[in-house]
Amino acid sequence: MKKTTGIDRSQTSSWRPATRAVRSGTWRSDHGETSEALYLNSGYSYDSAQEVAERFAGEAEGMVYSRFQNPTIAMLEERIAAMEGAEACKVQASGMAAMTTALLCQLSAGDHLVAAKAAFGSCRWILTNVLARFGITHTVVDGRDNAAWEAAIQPNTKVFFFETPANPTLDIVDLRFVCGLARAHGITTLVDNAFATSALQRPLEYGADLVAYSATKLMDGQGRVLVGAVCGSDEFIHGTLSPFQRNTGPVCSSFNAWVVLKGLETLSLRAFQQSANALQVAQFVEGRGVKVLYPGLPSFAQHELAASQMDAFGPIFSFVMPGGREQAFTVLDAMQLVDISNNIGDAKSLACHPASSTHHSMGPEGRADMGVDEGMIRINIGLEDPLDLIDDLGRALDAAGI
Ligand SMILES: *Cc1c(COP(=O)(O)O)cnc(C)c1O
Repeated sequence: MKKTTGIDRSQTSSWRPATRAVRSGTWRSDHGETSEALYLNSGYSYDSAQEVAERFAGEAEGMVYSRFQNPTIAMLEERIAAMEGAEACKVQASGMAAMTTALLCQLSAGDHLVAAKAAFGSCRWILTNVLARFGITHTVVDGRDNAAWEAAIQPNTKVFFFETPANPTLDIVDLRFVCGLARAHGITTLVDNAFATSALQRPLEYGADLVAYSATKLMDGQGRVLVGAVCGSDEFIHGTLSPFQRNTGPVCSSFNAWVVLKGLETLSLRAFQQSANALQVAQFVEGRGVKVLYPGLPSFAQHELAASQMDAFGPIFSFVMPGGREQAFTVLDAMQLVDISNNIGDAKSLACHPASSTHHSMGPEGRADMGVDEGMIRINIGLEDPLDLIDDLGRALDAAGI
């Protein structure tokens, strides 16, 4: 199997982002297939017993078992790393496998981490229900408050962990400040970049150490598979994370990796088009007098900061029905085109009520603290014609008496 398309690999780092998304990590077998091949195999065979010994000893190149490496997965890892501007990437079975692996590879008993309070529910769950059992403590801060990050640092703080924009309030963390602060204190920054992806925001450029993904979302982009990814330095990914992963096993299926590999070819097109559609629909909802949380709107408190670190504002926004849960349910039930679904990043528009779904387990106090209102609806805007989405939302707001 050739590892490239006949192109000198040293050239690939000079490729512009659109070229990387389509071409990076394309390996071709002797058949010369144009599209990336799907390798559905768990094991490998060898020409001689000696070759096995050499591969296991790390003295010869080649794969030994799909929990360790697989060609389709290796192609995806190479492509994601190239798009992110990272030295290396490893993919996992899901976004949560990526977050858990990235955290467990850095923290030991007695360590402390600081996390932003607006976060994906399961990310918070890991901190309180997994890490705490192993003597790893944490402090939760308002990610928008630079001084709070600084004040939370303890002598044993090892990691800063946050998403930006965050789910579902779209809170923005100041990447330049927070990553710079971490660097100055020898703290590792782990950014969950699922809402933006490398198409819209590249945290490594602002000094982040690790970027982790739910590739299930915008990277797949068509709601098909679960995949996760962690990007970082060669030393961390190959020296620390790979051995952890090959021995503990949260590996990605090669079929799922292949689906995401093909999804990445259109990531940038989708991310920018969905962002443009989201802005148009968000402006419409705001124009109906409803409070909208979308970093792309000038009314959003952190609009300027978001514009300084993102190339566009992503497909997701939230809006708050003044009549609370009942009115939010009326809007969701009245929409005909937009599906009720708690997924995001899909080419289909999807909406949900975070307080009773994604953020249900936090309880009313946790939600109030995080700014998750009872009347909040989170919507992922897809690739439908935005005018059809506006018609649908308009009908639904009418039904709710807005
Ligand atoms: C969906 C999501 C996750 C979890 O990813 P899975 O692929 O569902 O495991 C983590 N973080 C964010 C921000 C997400 O949106």
